[in-house]
Amino acid sequence: MDFRLSDEHERLRQRCAELAADFAIRSAEHDREATHPSENYARLRDEGFLALTVPKKWGGAGVGFLGHTIAFEALAQGCPSTALAFNMHASVVMPVLESPEVTTDAKRRIAELVVDQRKLIAGNFSEPGTTSLIGARPLSARARRVDCGYSITGRKMFASMLEAADYCMVMALPETAASASAGIILLVPRDAEGRRVEANWDTLGMRATRSDALILEDCRLPPSAVVFQSDDIGPFRLAHANWFWGSYTAVYLGVAAAAFKEAVDVVSARRPPGYAQSLAYHQDVRRHIAEMSADLEAARLVTYHSAWLSDTEGPTPRTTAALYRAKYVVGEAVSRITRTALLLGGAHGIFKGSRLEQLFRDGALAPIQPPQADFCLWNMSSYELGLDPEAMIPPLKAN
Ligand SMILES: Cc1cc2nc3c(=O)[nH]c(=O)nc-3n(C[C@H](O)[C@H](O)[C@H](O)COP(=O)(O)OP(=O)(O)OC[C@H]3O[C@@H](n4cnc5c(N)ncnc54)[C@H](O)[C@@H]3O)c2cc1C
Repeated sequence: MDFRLSDEHERLRQRCAELAADFAIRSAEHDREATHPSENYARLRDEGFLALTVPKKWGGAGVGFLGHTIAFEALAQGCPSTALAFNMHASVVMPVLESPEVTTDAKRRIAELVVDQRKLIAGNFSEPGTTSLIGARPLSARARRVDCGYSITGRKMFASMLEAADYCMVMALPETAASASAGIILLVPRDAEGRRVEANWDTLGMRATRSDALILEDCRLPPSAVVFQSDDIGPFRLAHANWFWGSYTAVYLGVAAAAFKEAVDVVSARRPPGYAQSLAYHQDVRRHIAEMSADLEAARLVTYHSAWLSDTEGPTPRTTAALYRAKYVVGEAVSRITRTALLLGGAHGIFKGSRLEQLFRDGALAPIQPPQADFCLWNMSSYELGLDPEAMIPPLKAN
């Protein structure tokens, strides 16, 4: 067992920490205005981050899932929204490049777009009715074959960095599908006709991700827009759970790390008038800091371990359970750490523009970001108990 980061990982972490320091300068403003941190995306593009995880055989840096985890934990410490939204790119590009179900032709097209043309790709699978409560919910967006390719119509929702990305990978139901679990994934360029954005992302936290609604009305796309199609999209989503949702865990881990560091800085700097020492010397403050440290380090180790399993074992049941465990542990740790950090900052820390206030709101989304904490526990329990999914009663009564 080796707990040290490799030299390569340490260099990557350091590079990301430098970028994060720059992102932090504008983070509060983007949060307040709920604006795209486009200059951060441009910097990440210039620094080669679009191809960070793209396998070397496709021209990328191939740092793997653990490398990605280390990088996004560090990036999120500067601007959580930048890291969360930019992660969408790897989250949808990597399953396509790694899946044996995807054709080599489609992989080559994606690699050319990302590596050679340096295009930023968003992803939008969610819709207003999307829920994990009752399992897979049928897609309402429809893709229809037309003479010149495809026409998509439907309302999508929660599409991060939609207006900043060059393309958005959209999932729809093929009109001819025999089953509700079928799906087709198409690349929709930002300037496609029949595509518009409803800017409804005015939220509690992660405001600069601008995860707006995407409206598609007879949006026409050429046949080359198709990335993947299947009569049952489930296995594809499960096999690449690490990228599809596991990649967000690192971002929230970064929020916890940033809140911890900010709390340390605040209590170290604040010396109440009439006292010779900073708040850091107070016994109760020290105890809070120690508990936050234990929470943070436990969450980090569980997350790194899940990423290492993903790289070394692939999508085994053990890896999938570890990814759910990490998401759950990080979600709970972020909630506790950001709340305690706010408490230690006191009333001085609750003003708009305060880093503690922003991290508290961004961190509040950690257990909510899919897979939600309840959903993680639901999946982990069936793994630990060795339950047969077919033998479980449905969570809700069907219509
Ligand atoms: C910051 C942010 C950015 C996002 N960006 C994107 C994006 O770029 N592209 C995209 O496609 N989507 C994106 N999403 C959307 C996301 O992926 C989900 O599809 C959407 O959030 C699902 O809606 P929900 O959480 O309200 O639904 P639900 O799944 O209905 O969850 C609501 C609550 O129900 C309970 N629950 C749900 N399922 C279970 C279960 N099985 N067992 C027990 N309890 C359960 C939990 O308490 C859960 O918190 C983003 C979301 C966030 C928060």
